[in-house]
Amino acid sequence: MVDRSDRTRDPGLLEELLTVRRGTAFWHRAVQTLDDGELDAPSLLEGWTRRHLIAHVGYNARAIGRLVLWAETDEEHPMYASPEERAREIDLGATLPARALRHLNHHAAVSLDVEWRDTPEELWSYRVKTAQGRLVPLRETVWMRTREVWLHAVDLDNGARVADIPEHVLERLLGDIVGVWAGRGTDQGLTIQVEGRADLGVPAEGTNGPDEATTKATVRGDLPAVVSWASGRGGARLTEGAEVVPPRWI
Ligand code: ZN
Repeated sequence: MVDRSDRTRDPGLLEELLTVRRGTAFWHRAVQTLDDGELDAPSLLEGWTRRHLIAHVGYNARAIGRLVLWAETDEEHPMYASPEERAREIDLGATLPARALRHLNHHAAVSLDVEWRDTPEELWSYRVKTAQGRLVPLRETVWMRTREVWLHAVDLDNGARVADIPEHVLERLLGDIVGVWAGRGTDQGLTIQVEGRADLGVPAEGTNGPDEATTKATVRGDLPAVVSWASGRGGARLTEGAEVVPPRWI
């Protein structure tokens, strides 16, 4: 009998693995409800059909698998050889026959999950490099993939909504996004109010507080609406600030 359980016993990490598996199931359900002809339609991502998106999510699983291999072997295995190579691979993947595309998507996700399951406790803190060149513990790959599967399910544009994403995932996503903006200083003059969640606003309480003189734009809405806007997926559901262009995130 094959042991199918995770090797880690870290409760926080087991929780994160559960979340990524739920997200992966959510993503696969969204793909499965599309018939082959519907794969040719545009996704919500500029310039990408659903085929491009599915190829990307499949290759992303393989790329993250290379980071697991890096930790295992202590030999550098980058996610992608270069941004150009990543784009070329996606363009090519988008032309695969539907069956092969679905196969890629499914198998890449299953392999990655097996690799995570078999990762021994001590390797989760091993440092690997993201496609953006950031050094992160291997554990971060679980979160990287979590963002991909939940958000890209919405990008398939066949019914999944940002509001379907678990609240704790949305919270962490918003934290990532505003963290990037703060790091680049592109959040200057921006006030974000998350309805019912005073703890999540920007500027954060205590840091340069909202100041009439410097605030140029206010964005307000519930958590899914704010994350949708902040991640570049439109502000239609905001209660205020739908016209505000969010700073770039990725
Ligand atoms: Zn992506």
